[in-house]
Amino acid sequence: TFHSLRPHVPLPPPSLSLSLPQYALSLLRTSSSSADSDGDTDFIIDATIGHRLSYSQFIAQIRSLAHSVRKNYSLSQNDVAFILSPPSLHVPLLYFALMSLGIVVSPANPLGSESEIAHQVQLSKPVIAFATSKTSSKIPSLKFGTVLLDSSEFLSFLTQSDVDNDVLNRAQVSQHDAAAILYSSGTTGRVKGVILSHLNLIALIAGYYHLRQLYREEEAPHPVPFFTVPLFHVFGFFMLARAFAMGETVVFTKRFEFEGMLRAIEKYKITYMPVSPPLVLAFIKSDLTNKYDLSSLLLLGSGGAPLGKEVAERFKEKFPTVELVQGYGLTETTGGATRVIGPEEAARYGTVGRLSENMEAKIVDPVTGEALPPGQRGELWLRGPIVMKGYVGDEKATAETLDSEGWLKTGDICYFDSEGFVYIVDRLKELIKYKAYQVPPAELEHLLHSHPEIADAAVIPYPDEEAGQIPMAYVVRNPGSSITEAQVMDFIARQVAPYKKIRRVAFINSIPKSPAGKILRRELVNHSVSGGLSK
Ligand code: AMP
Repeated sequence: TFHSLRPHVPLPPPSLSLSLPQYALSLLRTSSSSADSDGDTDFIIDATIGHRLSYSQFIAQIRSLAHSVRKNYSLSQNDVAFILSPPSLHVPLLYFALMSLGIVVSPANPLGSESEIAHQVQLSKPVIAFATSKTSSKIPSLKFGTVLLDSSEFLSFLTQSDVDNDVLNRAQVSQHDAAAILYSSGTTGRVKGVILSHLNLIALIAGYYHLRQLYREEEAPHPVPFFTVPLFHVFGFFMLARAFAMGETVVFTKRFEFEGMLRAIEKYKITYMPVSPPLVLAFIKSDLTNKYDLSSLLLLGSGGAPLGKEVAERFKEKFPTVELVQGYGLTETTGGATRVIGPEEAARYGTVGRLSENMEAKIVDPVTGEALPPGQRGELWLRGPIVMKGYVGDEKATAETLDSEGWLKTGDICYFDSEGFVYIVDRLKELIKYKAYQVPPAELEHLLHSHPEIADAAVIPYPDEEAGQIPMAYVVRNPGSSITEAQVMDFIARQVAPYKKIRRVAFINSIPKSPAGKILRRELVNHSVSGGLSK
């Protein structure tokens, strides 16, 4: 077993029964003198419309919203609230207000199709939803209905004056209670709902907080991150809570657009950005970067998918003053399982850093199940306080992923070097990552099987410089069918979110399967990249 080499971080005792928002508020009060003394430091800025909320305004609005939700809906603790919205100031307000009431927030991709959302709702069983007038039609009817975020009613929720001062402390939240349900397909099959507890999020943020106390630089500028990662994905979700606890100023745009981001970096003097690998590539390739003053930018933290060594090197050549680091994590580990700290560690291209605080890991031979020593490749297993509670309503999937001793099987092939640095070398699980977005092959295969002219199908990742991977389908036509590539792609595109589209098709006589009927994906992957496509 490998243990984290980072200093042990003490966590607040469960007897304190702190919710994530209460914990984040307590860190904010002790940590950031600037945010606390005048309360006027900006917490969050919507750069698209120029709206901003200072810490004191944000906290006042969380209180008002929590108060209004309590007054208007008879929700019980541990009820689930579904959130379907593009990025806006309302999303973080909802996260904090609802979690402090002990209500479980479940944000989903606003681009999801109606059937994708129906599946998510079926899993997490929300009693209420918060959506915009554009996204609300995709949500099935719920016990307390759907609250429109762009309605005057919701706006009035944010500006109540008779708010109980103690509203954020009313709920008796146990740290082991669910705080959020985020969606991930895990190592196999369809999308599942990952239950993250208050403790999971507290433990992750405690780690960051502790590190900052240790490595704080006196003259470091006030951190102003620009969020390019979605708030419904674990990466954006935890970065947001973290930024709040640290007293930082978060900037985002409603719709991501590269030049808009560059403009925001110049205008708001952005200091760091959580990014996915395709954005690092965009920085390298674009000439627009010369048009803007990016000198405030100190760091890019890449995660969600592998960052190629060559891409990292090209980035360093073009932006020698910007530190580029990689982190690694899964929705199932609250996002952050490893991290890189400081310029010395950052200079090791290719590593995702060392295990996060309080974490343990094993590298397991996928065939024999034996634990392997440093230097050897195997499946990474993780254990520690950031590992999820389980998949909502799916004991079977939970048991397959989390063993009885608390080890989470990541489905990633990794190795540790002798100094405790982790390298991700391959993916054992079915998951495809298109621009760091999850595309579960089983879901697309299920749709392909429903086509009357398709006898069998398998979906695999196909390498792509820009997206990392694109979903590729191997299709067996029914006898007499002459269905074309374009027809296959179009059939899927009509039913899924845009990032899940099939972007490459090959026809084949039969799908290679094991005697037990499992698709031999490796064979198809090798076949696809060796160029021997049987069209
Ligand atoms: P998600 O739950 O969407 O965050 O996806 C988690 C998966 O993304 C991991 O199990 C990895 O397969 C992949 N992943 C995340 N970060 C990295 C990274 N830095 N390098 C390689 N793969 C990564």
